[in-house]
Order: sequence, then C-alpha cells, then structure tokens
Amino acid sequence: MEKKFNIVLLGAPGSGKGTQAQKITEKYGLKHVSTGELFRKEISLQNELGLKAQSYIDRGELCPDILTIEMLHHYLDLFPEAKGYILDGVPRTIKQAQLLDGVGYPKSIPVDLIIYLSVDQLEIVARMIKRAEIEKRSDDTPEVIKNRINNYFAQTKPLESYYQKSKIYKVNGMNDAETVFTDICHIIDQFIK
Ligand code: AMP
Repeated sequence: MEKKFNIVLLGAPGSGKGTQAQKITEKYGLKHVSTGELFRKEISLQNELGLKAQSYIDRGELCPDILTIEMLHHYLDLFPEAKGYILDGVPRTIKQAQLLDGVGYPKSIPVDLIIYLSVDQLEIVARMIKRAEIEKRSDDTPEVIKNRINNYFAQTKPLESYYQKSKIYKVNGMNDAETVFTDICHIIDQFIK
C-alpha cells in the first residue's frame, strides 16, 4: 500500500504556495486544501461562518484559530480516502499548529513534511500588488496587503521554530515556479522512497 502523508506548505502570502500546491496535487495525487479558498467559498455562500470570516479577511487579519481548524476538519472529513493532504495556508499560528497536533482539540492531523517557501519581503510586496491587479480580491488593497504581511511576520513566521527542524525543508521561493517545483519534488521523493 502506498504511504499516506500530509504536507504543510509554509510561506508568506504571495510566496507561491497555491501554485506549488496545484503542481504537487497533479504529480503526487494529494488533496490540496487551502483555508483561504475555503473561507472565500463560505463567504460566497453568505452563511454564518462566511459572514464571521469576512470581517477578519477584509481587514487582513487572521480568522480565529478554532473557527479555522473546525472548518478544516469538516472539509477533510469529506475526503477520508485521500492519499494525503497538502495544507496550504494552515497552520498560520502556533495555536493552530497545536490544534492540528490534537493539543486542545479532539482530533489531530499528522504533519509529515513541512515545506517552507522562502521569499524576500520586497518580492512578496511586489507579487501581492501584481496579483491584486489580476485577481481583484477584496483583501488585496494596499492597506490590507500591509496588514497581511505584518501579521505573517508576527504570527506565522514563528512556526518555523515551533516545528522540529528535522521536518522543515526550506526552498528558495525566489526562483521561477518550475525550479521551485523541482526542488520540492526532490524533497517529496526522498521522503516517500
Ligand atoms: P489566503 O488565500 O491563504 O491568502 O487567505 C486569505 C485570508 O483568509 C487570510 O488573510 C486570512 O484572513 C484568512 N485565512 C486563511 N487561512 C487562514 C488560517 N489558517 N488562519 C486564519 N485565517 C486564515
């Protein structure tokens, strides 16, 4: 039987997590889960969760940890047969990492590999501005972009030291998408062999 495994993609907004997650899905058949996408889906449905999330997202703040992890579990429960998951944009706080580990939450999601896409701060800003022009997301205004980047450094970057060094693989996200993907494939191939 093929080994089941889950990957966490860590990196700032605009570091290329979504692009790489899609490529990993195509090659390795893992299920891509983006909490940002899940929230946007809930918002489009205008349901209770969506309305709650929208107020945070529109300000560039992170949504509450428990809300995020509950939504994630609900979604993953729909795919019990998945070969594994690519968690894109979650965890984003130490608390979320603990909840994923089952600390303070009745279920856990094993994290087997963490791939950290490292991109310079100036490049992150440039990419987000460019994406804003293309996607016209409501949370891509200059003020909100600034908040999202600040929150990344304050709340998400500390995850690098939360996770055991042995599990984190740093990839140079400044390279073009194909080179980044080649580097990621080396890491995954090494892990599954
Ligand atoms: P993203 O599409 O990953 O850039 O996420 C868009 C927005 O959704 C973020 O700026 C947050 O407001 C919210 N969000 C996505 N994932 C999370 C998470 N793991 N924890 C809290 N908020 C999140």
